[in-house]
Amino acid sequence: MTIRFIEEIPIEGKRTFIRVDFNVPITNGRITDDTRVQAALATVRHAVARGAKVILASHLGRPKGVRSESLRLEPIGARLAELLEVEIVAADDCIGDGVRKLSQDLRDGDVLLLENLRFYKEETENDPIFADKLAQCAEVYINDAFGTLHRSHASTVGMVKHFKNNKGAGYLVRKELKFLRDTLSNPDRPFVAILGGAKVSDKIGVIQNLLNKVDVLLIGGAMAYTLMKAKGLDVGNCPIEVDRLRVASQIIKTAEERNIKLILPEDHQVASDPNAQEGQAAEVSIPAGMLGLDIGPKTLEMFIEEIKHARIVFWNGPVGVFEKKPFQKGTFGIAHALAESKAISIVGGGDSVAAVNQIGLAEKISHISTGGGASIEFLEGKTLPGLAVLEV
Ligand code: ADP
Ligand code: MG
Repeated sequence: MTIRFIEEIPIEGKRTFIRVDFNVPITNGRITDDTRVQAALATVRHAVARGAKVILASHLGRPKGVRSESLRLEPIGARLAELLEVEIVAADDCIGDGVRKLSQDLRDGDVLLLENLRFYKEETENDPIFADKLAQCAEVYINDAFGTLHRSHASTVGMVKHFKNNKGAGYLVRKELKFLRDTLSNPDRPFVAILGGAKVSDKIGVIQNLLNKVDVLLIGGAMAYTLMKAKGLDVGNCPIEVDRLRVASQIIKTAEERNIKLILPEDHQVASDPNAQEGQAAEVSIPAGMLGLDIGPKTLEMFIEEIKHARIVFWNGPVGVFEKKPFQKGTFGIAHALAESKAISIVGGGDSVAAVNQIGLAEKISHISTGGGASIEFLEGKTLPGLAVLEV
């Protein structure tokens, strides 16, 4: 089973439906961050250059099946036209006679942008009739919306059955697979993973899957305290996921058995309140009445030392409450270490990526995953439904 890539598919003169992820933040009709539009450009440019009749489709926000003026794709069409320097035809629907007519009138290299897929609740319900209607306008199906591949929706799964061989992945999906699948499945060593974030329960699948692969596992963030507790350390007022203590012990044991170097925080920045103006240093455990809100300088040094010797570093999850100034040193320190490292560096997860962007280091990271939830599910070793249907 393989997934074909757009370059291998005859799209010349063909009505080519490309599922993109244009789910960008929009405030008062203005796009505040066009990263996702930029991320789709390679595929759209390629299709235009080869003379495909390009039909772009995306969701935006959560209109829950109701048409909403503020969630129309119009500003995105305008931005795309600027970036591509081509005219974009914007449809006011994503299915129906109007769309069919527009798609039939396309000339080679034209670009049609369909209206927000989620104006129909049938999109997220993966309704078969809606999926059939979406498929009607096209002869080729391409998915380049990596961030939606973990969803079984009409535009990512349902409609694809109408395309037997004439289906495949775009450049963005290929790049994500290159790093998240190819690089991480047969990694150069040492392979170091840094995991942080809010909850152990969110990341158990990822940790367990990574325990099959990594040489070094560095754990920080709120989730580290559940692991510390499992080791019998005092964790003060840190919220512990009591129902995850067994899994936490298991993780520690598995790491020992497999000779994986598992490093938990050995010093911390603490405060009695996450809104504190400054943190206090704490060694080893968390003092009574305190919350651990960032890793301390000694732990950061240990993490940086491991990153320096790594050939591959994967990072998911901030190691502190980086949204608050007194508790961002750990997370930003790791971002700098990754940026300076010669290793292949991969960052996944919405908040971790936001942290890297916030300090302007994204360019220095080998791969910033656009996936969010999709990247996490992928790293858990799950089959992504949107990928499975592309296999031929
Ligand atoms: P990602 O989106 O990168 O996968 P998560 O969503 O799992 O990351 O976690 C991000 C959140 O974890 C951030 O909002 C951050 O403030 C929080 N966090 C990290 N460390 C701590 C901590 N020690 N205490 C409380 N919250 C923390
Ligand atoms: Mg998050």
